Amino acid sequence: MSKKTVKDIEVEGKRVIVRCDFNVPLDEDGQITDDIRITSAMPTIKYLIEKGAKVIIMSHMGRPEGEPNMKYTLKPVADRLEELLKQKVQFISSPIVIDKNVVAAVQEMKNGEVLLLENLRFRKEETKNDVAFSKELASLAEIFVNDAFGTAHRAHSSTAGIAEFLPAVSGFLIEKEIKFLGGAVEYPERPFLAIMGGSKVGDKITVIENLLKKVDTLIIGGGMMFTFYKAQGLEIGKSILDAENVSLAAELLEKADKAGVKLLLPVDLVAAKEFSNDSIKGVYTKECIPADMMGMDIGPESIEIFEKEIEKAKTIIWNGPVGVFEMSNFAGGTLAIAEAMAASDAVTIIGGGDSAAAVELFKLADKMTHISTGGGASLEFLEGKELPGVAALEDK
Ligand code: AMP
Repeated sequence: MSKKTVKDIEVEGKRVIVRCDFNVPLDEDGQITDDIRITSAMPTIKYLIEKGAKVIIMSHMGRPEGEPNMKYTLKPVADRLEELLKQKVQFISSPIVIDKNVVAAVQEMKNGEVLLLENLRFRKEETKNDVAFSKELASLAEIFVNDAFGTAHRAHSSTAGIAEFLPAVSGFLIEKEIKFLGGAVEYPERPFLAIMGGSKVGDKITVIENLLKKVDTLIIGGGMMFTFYKAQGLEIGKSILDAENVSLAAELLEKADKAGVKLLLPVDLVAAKEFSNDSIKGVYTKECIPADMMGMDIGPESIEIFEKEIEKAKTIIWNGPVGVFEMSNFAGGTLAIAEAMAASDAVTIIGGGDSAAAVELFKLADKMTHISTGGGASLEFLEGKELPGVAALEDK
């Protein structure tokens, strides 16, 4: 079922409170090092300004643990917002987020003006989805808009609780995430290929289980491939192993077989003596991993096989790098996957987190159909879970 968006509701002259995910990285001098989360929210904010709403924006940043802590003030976000919007953004740095100055400033707002609240996590009630705090936030406005996909998998006062007290609709970013992530999983054009990587199987078991019900082909690479190798009885040398989950990996191999899903593990790999970019390295078949070496990337033959699968697919979801892409000597597999996806005509979706970082690093982001802005949220979505911050919004 689709959710109402800002386009389904009259906002002119109304006080609209918008939850954004402005949890941006800062350097030691408090400068924003990557503002993609702010730029991603621009379409919703600009739309509300153009339509003459009074726009109250709220977000969390970092983990101030429910206490005011100026290390986590949203002041740098307010400054960046002003630059991007080319208009004044009123910011009142209240240690309790909402105080009488904030209430007075909100009352005086004119159509098209923007005000940013202080870091929501200065209040311990926020992450507890506390009813009184949800009401306090709701009392500032007449409409609630959720555009924070990155926190939509958490039921907090500003993502779920507040929706009990105000008409609640989604912004364009959440709408886009639901359209691409949800659409790909529920109505994929086939063949539907998923590529899973990253280091831990444990984190991704439920995603793999859910995807096995949907995809035609599943490629497993990255650190987690070794847990699957182990489940197949192979020797993996010093490669990373999620020992607790070997039997689960074996179960997943069996489930794939029963579901008729083509599950592909790399046939060869690049292994190194040390976990270091300058380490001695070599290419080995999966049956011949030396006891004193660790797998760091997928090998050339695997890359060729995977490229062919990518070429055939019409929908591709990728989550997790297939090698230690942060080290240039072991980034080849991840780069090859990214390039093959960039060259494909398929619907290509990057499920957030490290694979999104890899695609940015390779400057291929604009060649993908959709890059999810929420790591944890996109994984939970792919697990088939309902996200509380989306569930709380009104149905169309
Ligand atoms: P995750 O957070 O589970 O998505 O894992 C991402 C991390 O997995 C990245 O930092 C990669 O460097 C790492 N990774 C990928 N392949 C390997 C590997 N073969 N051995 C160890 N770590 C890996």
